[in-house]
Amino acid sequence: MITTDIHIDIPSLVSSQRKFYRFQKTKSIDFRKQQLKRLRKAIIESEQQLYQAVEKDLGKGYEEAFLTEMSLVIKEIDLHLKHLSRWAKPKRVSSPIYILPSKSEVVPEPMGVVLIIGPFNYPFQLTMAPLVGAMSGGNCCVIKPSEQTPHTANVIQQVINSTFDDHYLHVVTGDVEVGKALLRQAYDLIFFTGSTTVGKIVMQKAAEHLCPVVLELGGKSPSIVLPSADVTTTAKRIAWGKTINAGQTCIAPDYILVHRDLADSLIDGISKHWKDMYGDEPEKSNHYGRIVSERAFDRLTQYLNDGQVVYGGHADRESRYIAPTILRDVNTDDAVMKEEIFGPILPVITYKDETDLKHMLPEEKPLACYVFGNEKEAIKWFDQVDAGGGAINDTILHVSNANIPFGGVGKSGMGNYHGKSSFDAFTHQKGRIVSKTWIDPNLRYPPYKSFSWIKRLLKSW
Ligand code: NAD
Repeated sequence: MITTDIHIDIPSLVSSQRKFYRFQKTKSIDFRKQQLKRLRKAIIESEQQLYQAVEKDLGKGYEEAFLTEMSLVIKEIDLHLKHLSRWAKPKRVSSPIYILPSKSEVVPEPMGVVLIIGPFNYPFQLTMAPLVGAMSGGNCCVIKPSEQTPHTANVIQQVINSTFDDHYLHVVTGDVEVGKALLRQAYDLIFFTGSTTVGKIVMQKAAEHLCPVVLELGGKSPSIVLPSADVTTTAKRIAWGKTINAGQTCIAPDYILVHRDLADSLIDGISKHWKDMYGDEPEKSNHYGRIVSERAFDRLTQYLNDGQVVYGGHADRESRYIAPTILRDVNTDDAVMKEEIFGPILPVITYKDETDLKHMLPEEKPLACYVFGNEKEAIKWFDQVDAGGGAINDTILHVSNANIPFGGVGKSGMGNYHGKSSFDAFTHQKGRIVSKTWIDPNLRYPPYKSFSWIKRLLKSW
C-alpha cells in the first residue's frame, strides 16, 4: 500500500534544498509564517483522510486521533505563528566593560537543511510537530514518516508534497532501506523519533558529517505509587495512560512499583476503570486501538508468559488485538522487565518499604516518571529519578503543555522540543558583536602600551 520512494534521487533532493536554503528565502519571518499558514490549511483540508488513515493503521478512534494527532499539531502551529516574530528577533545581551561601546546580541539562525525521521505510534503528530519547529526555525526539510503506518505516511506525503516545493519541504516514504539511504547524506540537523537501537545508528551516521542530532527515544517509564496515594484517581490515571493507543505511547507508564498494602486495591481500581473505558469486551470498543504489526504482536504476547495474568490476557493475532492486561509476580530478569513494553501489558511490582523502593528505582534514565502520593512526598521521590520528564499524581499530561520542553535524557534521548523549545532545537544561537568605528582605543593592539591597565581591567573580578 505504501508508495516507497526507494528510487528517488535523494542526493539531488538534498542538494536542491541546500541550494534553495542559500537563497536566504527561508530566513524571512514573513515567508516562515506564510508557509506555516499553508501547512495549517493543508492539514485541515486533509483532516478526514487523516482520521481514516490512523484508524486503518492503528485502529485509532476519532476522538483519540483528534486529541493525540490532530489538535496537538494545529495547536503547535498556532503557537509558533503567535510567537515566531518575538522568538526570531536578535536578543540584546549585556557587554563587559572592556568591549564597550560595542553591543552584543544573540541571533537565532536556521540550522539549514534538516532531516526528520518519524515513528509509527503517533505517526502524524510525531512527524508533523517537529516539522512545525523546522519551518518556524527557517529550515528546509526532508521528512520520512514510518513505513509501519503506511496510510498515515501517504496522507503526510500528500499534504506536504502537494503543498510545498521539493526544494523547501519534501516527504520521502519507504522502509528502513529508504531511511538508510537518507542517512548517507549530510544535513545540518537530524531530528529522529524512534527506538534506542535505531537512535544509535542515526547518531553514528550523523557523526560522519559532524551533524547534530535530536534523538527522541523510548525506555521503561515507571509509575511509583506511595502509601499516601489516592488509589481511585491513581488507578484511573494509570489505566488511561497505559492504554491510549493500545499502550504504544513512548511515555506510557511501562510498569508500576506500588506499596504492597495498596497493590490489590490498585489492581482492582485499574481493572474497574478499564471496564468503564472499554467495556467487558475491549475488542468491540471504538476507543481501543490495535497493535501496529504482527511482529510487535508476537513480541508482546511473549511477555504474557513472564508473570501471572490477573486481568485481561486475551489476544487475537489476526486483528492484532491485545486486551488491557495486568501481570503480577514478574521477575526483574524477565524480558517484560528488561525491554520497553510498548503495548497494553502492565506489570505490577510491590515494594515493602522506602529502602526497598530505593533499590527498585531505575538505573537508566527513563523518558518519563510518574509518582502518586502526597504531593510533597511524591515530588521528593520524583526528584530522585533522573528522567526526561513526568508528572506527580498523573500520567502523560506533561506532553500536552508546549511550555514544557519535551525530550529524553541518557538512553531515552537528547534534545528537547515543543513550542519555544522546538524553535530553539531547529536554530543555532549565533553570537554577534556590533562595534562602533568612532572610537578605537589601542588597548588590545600590540605592542600593548597600556598593558598594566588592561590587566587591571580584566582582573577586576
Ligand atoms: P523505529 O526506531 O523502529 O523506527 C523509527 C523510524 O526509523 C522509522 O521511520 C523507520 O523506518 C526508521 N528506521 C528504522 N531503521 C532505520 C535505519 N537503520 N536507518 C534509518 N532509518 C531507520 O521506532 P518505531 O518502532 O517506529 O517507534 C517505537 C519506538 O520509538 C519506541 O522505542 C518508542 O519509545 C520510541 N518513541 C519515542 C518518542 C519520543 O518522543 N521520545 C515518541 C514515539 C516513539
